[in-house]
Amino acid sequence: MPGLYLHIPFCKQACHYCNFHFSTSLKYKGELVQALLREMELQRDYLGGATLNTIYFGGGTPSLLSGDELQMIFDQIYRLFPVVAEPEITFEANPDDLTQEKVDILQKSPVNRLSIGIQSFSEEDLRFMNRAHSAEEATTCLKRARDAGFENITIDLIYGSPTTSDAQWTNNLDLFFGFDLPHLSPYCLTVESKTALDHFVKKGKVPPVDEEKASRQFEYLMDAMAARGYEHYEISNFAKPGRHSKHNSSYWLGEPYLGIGPAAHSFNGDTRQWNIANNARYLQTLSEGRLAFELETLTPANRFNEYVMTSLRTQWGCNLAHIQSLPEDFSNHFLASIQRFVAEGQVVRQGDVFTLSRQGKLVADHIAAECFV
Ligand code: SF4
Repeated sequence: MPGLYLHIPFCKQACHYCNFHFSTSLKYKGELVQALLREMELQRDYLGGATLNTIYFGGGTPSLLSGDELQMIFDQIYRLFPVVAEPEITFEANPDDLTQEKVDILQKSPVNRLSIGIQSFSEEDLRFMNRAHSAEEATTCLKRARDAGFENITIDLIYGSPTTSDAQWTNNLDLFFGFDLPHLSPYCLTVESKTALDHFVKKGKVPPVDEEKASRQFEYLMDAMAARGYEHYEISNFAKPGRHSKHNSSYWLGEPYLGIGPAAHSFNGDTRQWNIANNARYLQTLSEGRLAFELETLTPANRFNEYVMTSLRTQWGCNLAHIQSLPEDFSNHFLASIQRFVAEGQVVRQGDVFTLSRQGKLVADHIAAECFV
């Protein structure tokens, strides 16, 4: 069943590693919310009237929305789209925004899942990343959210940072376990081009990511999560049984979705489109009653490559029967390409299904790329 994604393109400050689309000027936040409402109106038929199963507020920083803005967005969603009786509604929030007042607003809203950008519980890591919150806020916001009644909480953590020692990474995970949350999204620090981190690395002010340390911390993570009963259901996602992110899982399983807001992507099964990643131009075009986006019709090769890349990263794996059902059958190519990884123990074959082994998870992108047509 399809999902709806809303991109809130504002942040208080730029994290050094981030290459998402956002602006640190909040001047046009009110206008942008109005534009989101207009875009929903324009795109109301994109999913062909299908019922929404999930709604996801991402960004940027959705927790910069006021209670009134959030209410207007929900009113518009429920006015324009059919929604299942118990949708999963995820809201990304940063710890420094989760004041008691904001948590109360969220608790009274239809939001039923919080995704909190903790990244680390260490002050040194947070300063290195230029996060807007402190280590203390990282823990207090979790307590506050729990006390307000939010049980369905996931957090993001980053490993592999030059400031994150193995001991600190263990400590971050121990603090996570202390809250007994149902879900964790851990990411390896990546140096994306045109970010401040990229600039610092090129200038020699910061060392490049130590791949060996990152792999060691990832292996520790897999062991620690498995020991506490979490399923490694996607390379960067762990959940207690039955507590997967429904929204993200539907992306990986190829379900259609509508993305609203600057830089948001949409997918209807045949085409993929992405909105202009510029707040001023997004506002301008919507004020003229139109939407600026680029569109790509997926070729059979695109579909195959996307399927291999996303499915191999999940615990459900890559299914030969699905490859054979695609508009062009690349199963012979796939079998020839994946064979050596099976032989080397990086991929496990069970009948028609291919999944990554523990070793394979360390080189997931490489394996997928080697299978592309
Ligand atoms: S990581 Fe999140 S809070 Fe930081 S700049 Fe990127 S979108 Fe904004």
